[in-house]
Amino acid sequence: SWLGPLTRTRTTCGYCGVGCALDVLTRDGEVAAVRPAGDGPVNRGHACVKGRFAHGFLRAGDRLTRPLLRGSSGRLEPVSWEEALAHIARGIRAAVGEAGPGSVAAISSARSTNEENYLLQKLMRAVVGTNNVDNCSRLCHSPSAAGLTATFGLAGGTDAFEDVERADCLLVVGANPAEAHPVVGARLLRQVLGGARLVVADPRAVGLARHADVHLRPRPGTNVALFNGLAHVLLAEGLIDEDFLRSRAAGLPELAAVLDDHPPGRVAAITGVPEADLVAAARLYGRAERPAILYGLGVTEHLHGTDGVRTLANLAILRGAVGTGRGFGVNPLRGQNNVQGASDMGALPDLLPGYGKVRDPVARGRAEQVWGVRLPEHDGLRIPEMFAAARAGDLRVLWIVGEDVATTDPDANRVVEALESCPLVISQELFLSETARRADVVLPAASWLEKDGTFVNFDRRFQRVRPALAPPGEARADFAIVHAVAAALGADLGCPTPAAALAECGRVAPVFAGISHERLDREGAVPWPCPEAGRPGVSRLYQDRFATADGLARLAARPYLPPGEAADDDYPLILVTGRRWAHYNSGTMTRRSGAVEIDPTDHLDLHPADAARAGLGDGDPVLVESRHGQATLTARVTEEVLRGQVFCAFHFAASRVNALISSHADTVTSCPEYKVTAVRLRKP
Ligand code: SF4
Repeated sequence: SWLGPLTRTRTTCGYCGVGCALDVLTRDGEVAAVRPAGDGPVNRGHACVKGRFAHGFLRAGDRLTRPLLRGSSGRLEPVSWEEALAHIARGIRAAVGEAGPGSVAAISSARSTNEENYLLQKLMRAVVGTNNVDNCSRLCHSPSAAGLTATFGLAGGTDAFEDVERADCLLVVGANPAEAHPVVGARLLRQVLGGARLVVADPRAVGLARHADVHLRPRPGTNVALFNGLAHVLLAEGLIDEDFLRSRAAGLPELAAVLDDHPPGRVAAITGVPEADLVAAARLYGRAERPAILYGLGVTEHLHGTDGVRTLANLAILRGAVGTGRGFGVNPLRGQNNVQGASDMGALPDLLPGYGKVRDPVARGRAEQVWGVRLPEHDGLRIPEMFAAARAGDLRVLWIVGEDVATTDPDANRVVEALESCPLVISQELFLSETARRADVVLPAASWLEKDGTFVNFDRRFQRVRPALAPPGEARADFAIVHAVAAALGADLGCPTPAAALAECGRVAPVFAGISHERLDREGAVPWPCPEAGRPGVSRLYQDRFATADGLARLAARPYLPPGEAADDDYPLILVTGRRWAHYNSGTMTRRSGAVEIDPTDHLDLHPADAARAGLGDGDPVLVESRHGQATLTARVTEEVLRGQVFCAFHFAASRVNALISSHADTVTSCPEYKVTAVRLRKP
């Protein structure tokens, strides 16, 4: 045959956090097909349009293949790796020498493997000498990590998805799995069609809501009131597990006092959810034998996002539906393929690999012993603080791995100001993104189909990532780039291979010590915690005790507080942002694949009454204005959104949606309030 032989590579999808195992078939250096793996631990033979078909970006003509350096002409010019690395090393050395290690910061990536995240945070801490390293979970699920840790002791979802699939009642909150996590969405639908009861809490009529027994549509920004209202009904109607509350939880009297202030009538007034629906939802969850909670960014991306996670978790504790087998806990649906792993690996300014606190001498001492250096003792900067420091002239070097912050971060005009204020911005990317085009050095990186390592999915499972292709031109995997930067600085990070990096990580973070590439090659997937190589990882957490100091789950007594912005006469509509089925985040990869034919632009969903008031019809261009910026979109008139609310995604850099978003952020974690922005509409 004139066709060359096909090579099959088993890897893990690099799009959403479901973590589908895929078989990538390649021939002559090109992807011939991608097939969902029939024995995939999570997906069991399924994959969505992104995993199967969105690989056209690999050979897109504008793929970065050589390092670029901004020359004296002011333009980015191709240079050798040696020149680019020498420039970076000079910049870092000068910044550290003149302004201290705190003048250097790095944003790591959920697109990078665990081993790459581990290596980058090690370089920042052990070589540069700063904890200024963060990752994009700051912008999505940092309230999950904070909220779940405060409640149960660990920063991951409580149960395996196989268990969630055995639930007889699902409470799905602030998530649109049919579009954002399609394989999970399809399986949940099958579960509901098979008899499981379903409560959906989401302002929009998301796909799953059509099949819900009760669809709660709270006003954006009122989650804490809603969850307290549900808890109030559980308590008032005795739908609680008193034995569990006595023996395994703390904080009931304090919670009860707060819930006194959240009777259904008041909660209905705050949230707009009819009292009868609130009571019906609480009874469904409260009377189920095995309830489970799944939630998404509609819970976290709020001014009080951590309170949202904690008050949602209250419901599972009140019911004894966590750590008992009588229900399947509280489970965040992670948006990005490795956002769990990036945090697990310590790409966070306050936490080391395995979530040991930077300020805890024991955790720090363990890392110091393995790395053979003294480490900085104070928390580093979070992403928004890095931008503020850059604008203030205090940040000299900002190294951004795989993130188009100028497109995806809130108050995007201020992000651009920060990039322009920082003397040395390094962007490690596949394409010349909005961020890369403003950088001083651009390093061509490898994609998820071109690298070796592991990802952690939404239910804490490590799975292998294997290269199906070599990166194009001179592009390199982040793992190799971080090693090369370290070498340019005169340092040797050790762990020469990804397998060695994961092994070393297990010495710093015993919670991962039993997981290795070799074991994953044999077993397919292993969940953490997994401290021992000879024992299975723990998929259902907290069966004996919670991971808090006293072993008790913590009920959170948190009152409802209003969001950062409210609609008023000038800005009468509330904008919520999210994702669409065919695209992924800033669209860097999916816009360069067939997905763009399915969904060729960002559009603004608005209710027919609001469209009529603005004189807009379906398909009309619409100028959206907030107090922070403006964006031009295409109107989509639909009753999927309630009157007074509008919705759009942020997949196309040209629409500049995130210029609209305020800088309000979760009071605990600085996660931006993407879900509540007051806007008005005009014809452009
Ligand atoms: Fe699976 Fe998510 Fe990839 Fe789709 S995008 S194939 S659901 S991991």
